[in-house]
Amino acid sequence: MAENLKGCSVCCKSSWNQLQDLCRLAKLSCPALGISKRNLYDFEVEYLCDYKKIREQEYYLVKWRGYPDSESTWEPRQNLKCVRILKQFHKDLERELLRRHHRSKTPRHLDPSLANYLVQKAKQRRALRRWEQELNAKRSHLGRITVENEVDLDGPPRAFVYINEYRVGEGITLNQVAVGCECQDCLWAPTGGCCPGASLHKFAYNDQGQVRLRAGLPIYECNSRCRCGYDCPNRVVQKGIRYDLCIFRTDDGRGWGVRTLEKIRKNSFVMEYVGEIITSEEAERRGQIYDRQGATYLFDLDYVEDVYTVDAAYYGNISHFVNHSCDPNLQVYNVFIDNLDERLPRIAFFATRTIRAGEELTFDYNMQAPPHS
Ligand SMILES: [Zn+2]
Ligand SMILES: [Zn+2]
Ligand SMILES: [Zn+2]
Repeated sequence: MAENLKGCSVCCKSSWNQLQDLCRLAKLSCPALGISKRNLYDFEVEYLCDYKKIREQEYYLVKWRGYPDSESTWEPRQNLKCVRILKQFHKDLERELLRRHHRSKTPRHLDPSLANYLVQKAKQRRALRRWEQELNAKRSHLGRITVENEVDLDGPPRAFVYINEYRVGEGITLNQVAVGCECQDCLWAPTGGCCPGASLHKFAYNDQGQVRLRAGLPIYECNSRCRCGYDCPNRVVQKGIRYDLCIFRTDDGRGWGVRTLEKIRKNSFVMEYVGEIITSEEAERRGQIYDRQGATYLFDLDYVEDVYTVDAAYYGNISHFVNHSCDPNLQVYNVFIDNLDERLPRIAFFATRTIRAGEELTFDYNMQAPPHS
């Protein structure tokens, strides 16, 4: 019987930490949960819950990793070696004191609502770190993803799955390209105009990988059938995101946003807009639901005709978190690589100007690629 169940799995209702708690309480080692005989009785600070000062001695209420809340204990500061956690605790405490009382001097005792806030903040940081690890485990691109919320207590979005390329909906097929180019050098010595030339279009990039076509013109990159290699200058979007980016909580009510942690030069490729490809009728139906929820992640692929739409509401990459601006620093291009069906372009964002490290990335939700001519 049991062999018939191979490959099956059931979601666990308990969190990782709760399962570790159970192991330690039952004094069981479990390699799968990272609890071995060696660390079964180890005490590691998970986070700090409260603070008090008695005479000149400072104490912290410690939540121990792998132990339930009921086992938390008060410890004098000199017993604690978790410098980073202590620093973060005081940073959060000072910021909250300033927000509540306009002063940052640490009191001798914290009122319960303040201590409770600090626990929520610590739990949020833990949840965001875990989400960050999950996103980075799923990305197939070079650029790393960090997550930051210094604004409110919101944690990771509940329903979002990170993907690196289109997820094709039911009844839709992406055809694999049948021919590639035969160039000696795709940029400097192209044969028949390289891959774009096959459909009478221009070569899109300079030798730095910066787009040199005006917005609205399509980009035809080299594909899996081409004679050229990975380093061909006509392979840019297909290499994926290469900048380190940060998903951060905006402080003016716009939810999450994305900022770059590195300088991005003008006309450089930044990211693709990926999601689920659905028919426009299906998009119409979903759009009504999204409108009621007050957010939409639908992007019409209307390069030649409006038949398909990308829905990044549930499946998406970091572009899911990029905000709208009427004066955006990202511009949309339609890109064709291994699929040449003009109704199914890939959507790529390029920098409209130099973007400094730390700047927020934005695109104009209403101004998709200018019409095809
Ligand atoms: Zn070529
Ligand atoms: Zn080619
Ligand atoms: Zn090439």
